[in-house]
Amino acid sequence: MLRDLAETHPDAHCELDFTTPYELAVATVLSAQTTDVRVNEVTPKLFARYRTAADYASADRTELEELIRSTGFYRNKATSLIGLGTAVVEKHDGVLPHTLDELVALPGIGRKTANVILGNAFGIPGITVDTHFGRLVRRWGWTAEDDPVKVEHAVGALVPKRDWTIVSHEVIFHGRRVCHSRKPACGACTLAADCPSYGTGPTDPAQAAALVKGPSRERLLRLAGAPDDAPPSDAPVDDPRALDAGADPVEAAVDVP
Ligand code: SF4
Repeated sequence: MLRDLAETHPDAHCELDFTTPYELAVATVLSAQTTDVRVNEVTPKLFARYRTAADYASADRTELEELIRSTGFYRNKATSLIGLGTAVVEKHDGVLPHTLDELVALPGIGRKTANVILGNAFGIPGITVDTHFGRLVRRWGWTAEDDPVKVEHAVGALVPKRDWTIVSHEVIFHGRRVCHSRKPACGACTLAADCPSYGTGPTDPAQAAALVKGPSRERLLRLAGAPDDAPPSDAPVDDPRALDAGADPVEAAVDVP
């Protein structure tokens, strides 16, 4: 399955835009309960205005809130960003730490966010258990656990450590594009032959093809041998938040006070 996943999603990557670890931390905080696309719309202006942890620590709250308003929960997120900046300045001389323990001790940073930062900004393997990841690995029988930390450990024991970050992206890509929460596109899925949950969604190739989403849709359908003449379904196949790797209600509850 790992090989099929990699072949299915060679374009898998962190969909948040950033150029420094601190920018990724900020973007990940903002991604709670919204889409990566929405976050990427606000971060160019935000990153131009605030460049360092110290800039966030001394930010004018009203101005900061206005810049991030469209990501939702902007008051809580502004509190997290100011708190994060303050803590990084006071405890780490303004430099974002790169261990899980130090990251999760910072305001606004939960375990999922910390793993996103470790894996994508520091090159330290991390498993990102968001809502997609948990759903898919349970469907595949990789674990029966619900608790994100237990899921992380269970999958960590199955997947080589060097692959933790990329496999996280591939699983999340599959969850966003094919294996949706309510109506997975089983009949147009490259993993169908090995999936114990095949049949959870429509198995008719044309019906399933209409459920496949995203910019690589045509390629995904070709790989699965599904017809690509069915227009993508307009009906939401999931909660809109499910478009976003950062949109995990569990994490949001942790990260946005
Ligand atoms: S066969 Fe269905 S349940 Fe299994 S991974 Fe594919 S879309 Fe998901």
